[in-house]
Amino acid sequence: MLDADFFRRWMTVTAASVEREADRLTALDSPIGDADHGSNLLRGFRAVSAVLDKEPPDTPGAVLVLSGRQLISTVGGASGPLYGTLLRRTGKALGEAAEVDEARFATAFRTGVEAVMTLGGAAPGDKTMIDALLPAVDALDAGFGAARAAAEEGALATTPLQARKGRASYLGERSIGHQDPGATSAALLIAALAEANGE
Ligand code: ADP
Ligand code: MG
Ligand code: MG
Repeated sequence: MLDADFFRRWMTVTAASVEREADRLTALDSPIGDADHGSNLLRGFRAVSAVLDKEPPDTPGAVLVLSGRQLISTVGGASGPLYGTLLRRTGKALGEAAEVDEARFATAFRTGVEAVMTLGGAAPGDKTMIDALLPAVDALDAGFGAARAAAEEGALATTPLQARKGRASYLGERSIGHQDPGATSAALLIAALAEANGE
């Protein structure tokens, strides 16, 4: 079973991985964006870590709702509201349970990813974070390790795509040949899920 500690660990492992990978995320956002994806997520996940440290919520749902709210209020770029919505809606779908099993989490996370698609209007293949998140959701039934592999594969598969949403879409065909920064950070988020679970 997954408890509030597990979800806090998921957020702190994500924060640590964003610290390690921020330069790479910003470098990916340079040719097809405005070179701020790493710094956007650094600011956001530092705020998430700080608030979870200061006032640790005692249910899985509350951990994710609070984290999502922090991302929305601290990140100026598109990724803040999108990741914030992902966590907030996933958390809401978990309700007030003190512990949830992996199947319940998978269902809640699908709700969260669908909320991101509604908010941003991106479909699979539009070269966004959705291209890592949706394959991860589809693989979650097979476990966190399978979801991690699916998200990494999805992020790599954005390279030959032409962007249809977000800043990169302004480049039209010139967005082809670059890996999407948001899909790359989404793969980090999913990898942190497996790591937080000791996988
Ligand atoms: P900004 O583009 O505002 O500078 P970031 O650089 O932090 O924001 O994030 C860019 C990433 O956000 C993109 O690589 C893409 O994955 C994701 N993104 C942008 N717009 C959308 C959207 N409408 N739907 C889903 N993801 C999006
Ligand atoms: Mg950017
Ligand atoms: Mg920006």
